[in-house]
Amino acid sequence: VTQIISACMSLGMMVTMNQRLDAETLSIVAEEFGYKVEFVTADIEESIEEVIDKEEDLVHRAPIVTVMGHVDHGKTSLLDYIRKENVIAGESGGITQHIGAYGVQLDGGQKIAFLDTPGHEAFTAMRARGAQVTDIAIIVAAADDDIMPQTKEAISHAQAAGVPIVFAINKIDLPAANPEKIKEGLANMNLLVEDWGGKVQSHDISAKKGTGVKELLEKVLLEAELLELKANPEKAAVGTVVEAFLDKGRGYVSTILVQAGTLKVGDYVLAGKNSGKVKAMHDERGNDVEAAGPSTPVSILGLDGAPQAGDKFNVFEDEREAKQIASKRAQLQREQSVRTQRHITLDEIGRRIALGDFQELNIILKGDVDGSVEALTDSFQKLSTEEIQVNILHKGVGAITESDVLLASASDAIIIGFNVRPVGNARMIADKEEIDIRSYSIIYDAINDLKDAMEGMLSPELKEEITGTAEIREMFKVSKVGTIAGCMVTNGKILRSSGIRLIRDGVVVYTGELASLKRFKDDAKEVTKGYDCGMQIKNYNDIKEGDIIEAFHEVEVKKKLK
Ligand code: GDP
Repeated sequence: VTQIISACMSLGMMVTMNQRLDAETLSIVAEEFGYKVEFVTADIEESIEEVIDKEEDLVHRAPIVTVMGHVDHGKTSLLDYIRKENVIAGESGGITQHIGAYGVQLDGGQKIAFLDTPGHEAFTAMRARGAQVTDIAIIVAAADDDIMPQTKEAISHAQAAGVPIVFAINKIDLPAANPEKIKEGLANMNLLVEDWGGKVQSHDISAKKGTGVKELLEKVLLEAELLELKANPEKAAVGTVVEAFLDKGRGYVSTILVQAGTLKVGDYVLAGKNSGKVKAMHDERGNDVEAAGPSTPVSILGLDGAPQAGDKFNVFEDEREAKQIASKRAQLQREQSVRTQRHITLDEIGRRIALGDFQELNIILKGDVDGSVEALTDSFQKLSTEEIQVNILHKGVGAITESDVLLASASDAIIIGFNVRPVGNARMIADKEEIDIRSYSIIYDAINDLKDAMEGMLSPELKEEITGTAEIREMFKVSKVGTIAGCMVTNGKILRSSGIRLIRDGVVVYTGELASLKRFKDDAKEVTKGYDCGMQIKNYNDIKEGDIIEAFHEVEVKKKLK
């Protein structure tokens, strides 16, 4: 122990005997003593024997497709139409249940499995858990609208996952539809569709009337052929959990997607930290299924709990072994809550460069206006050096959302917000996943910080510290004085001398200072978390209920050599 502690000290780290080290430190320390560290995943996959398939056992399997796109552009309508039109003859009439995934068979006999989790949150949430299930993404864009923020997000998510995209340009039945405008927008994003001489597949459709949907699916199948999707159906089943819930009458119901092998009723299944014998299997129409082969989604009964979406499942001969692994996993998961793997942060870049394993810096960039986003993108990309490639995984206008954080977590990226802040659950998830979110309001600062970090020498200097935030709950108009914001301090403290920013829906709308800070009738020097106060912003009256006032002060931190 003393040797290890002194090795850490020589690396500049003060540690105690019962402290957990992160993965990289472990590697360096071990190396000091002439050892190499091998890391295993927390899922103890390696204890599950993987059957290596022989080439001749592999047969063609159906593609697994996810539909993504901007809200109201027609994802649900498209999925509904496909489901209605492709009900296998004789099976119609049954109630279609939502099970999170289903298979369709086209006229030509080919099959496609759809993950019915519209929206890329589900897609990325699964990817963040290490499950890459989707083979092809259909991205729906309404032809009477523009390429919208979520369209761009969906494209970024699919690209980051390396999943081929087929565009469905929807609502062409509307008089206002202009598919060419969407294609032009895509071309501007370096996505040239086939009609425009490019390689990206796209088809004009009307999800409402069904126009072009058949052709769209043919293009999906064409894309699938290029991927040469194959699996061995003759082995014990493996796959991924799509969703799971507790049904009052039937117990735990889990929808799973078989990816290879064949799952049969009676098989003993281990999924995440749950296990159990498959008592029954159903398709999305509620029909009994006896056996499910590759690319088949089924809902199964019999697990002793609800596994999480994205969990892998395996079939075991030996019930005891499966149970053992399940409980080991539960234990590992508890341990893993003490993180050993860190996500990248600006401060960490220097360390990783020193270790020599840092080649790519992934960035997600959000800003208040398009102009600054573009300017920052250009400048960031120019920072790329031979050693470090700067990738802008996703850029967009608007607040930092949950989806941005999930993408950052799945692709080990940092998030840079220019005059925007995290909204909703984004901050909470970022804290949990340890995603670095940097907010800037001066372009020059953002570029310099990144440059310094990439040079690996200096830790970025902190110029601004947020001391507290308050939410506007009420407004009082006082003649001759202006509008007073009745606030509740929700975090930290607000100082009378603070600089302040007014944030609406995650976007900075004004930066300035306070004209007054009051507790009841009295002037206050500072107000801390949990207290009401009245604030007036100097020379600014356009405030709204629900706006956030963020207080900051400038601190000078000397740049220091690490
Ligand atoms: P989602 O939010 O992407 O799932 O979008 P929905 O499928 O719920 O569709 C949003 C709205 O657009 C609904 O009112 C649909 O009826 C309408 N819509 C979807 N597809 C079409 C289409 O091809 N043509 C027309 N005219 N309306 C459509």
